[in-house]
Amino acid sequence: MVTPLWFEFACPRHGGPAHVRIHEAAHAVLAVAFGFVFENVVVHNDPEDRPAPGSGVYGGGVDYGTLDRRARFSRDKPRDALMMYCAGASAEHHFFGDTLPESFDGDLTAWKSDLGLFEGQTEESYRELIGESQKDTLRATFGLIVTHESAIRAVADTLKLAPSGALTFDEVHSIVAATPTGSIER
Ligand SMILES: [Zn+2]
Repeated sequence: MVTPLWFEFACPRHGGPAHVRIHEAAHAVLAVAFGFVFENVVVHNDPEDRPAPGSGVYGGGVDYGTLDRRARFSRDKPRDALMMYCAGASAEHHFFGDTLPESFDGDLTAWKSDLGLFEGQTEESYRELIGESQKDTLRATFGLIVTHESAIRAVADTLKLAPSGALTFDEVHSIVAATPTGSIER
């Protein structure tokens, strides 16, 4: 159970909500860049709000419509999907130098769950699926965070001001398109 107090002090330096905004904005921006259409990205600026489902981090999440739709992204493009998931913790690290507890593990678990992977994943089985090492995928993810830095910051700032705390796919798409590095580079 996550209490509002825990959430606010999850990171004493930056506060939980600031982390969640960057984390969820990064998922949303990379989803747009990869063409993964979602319903909404939402953050609960008031930590008393309930945690959103489908997120490794409490206090927000990306609503992909259905779990099946989400899993289809991962099955069709496992590497892109993994980068989209890892973007949350990677962006926290990029912007703040730290991450919320379990920020990365929660997202990795979502990806594994989409693909029906649980225990026993090895570096070899990963390479067989993705065609490169996990470290290379993470390195590429950090590169995408740098490329999309302005868009991620802009989406996070807009989420903070949005009365509902939510943005649709189209709204995020407009923000990405309006930033200078909004196109995908890999
Ligand atoms: Zn922090």
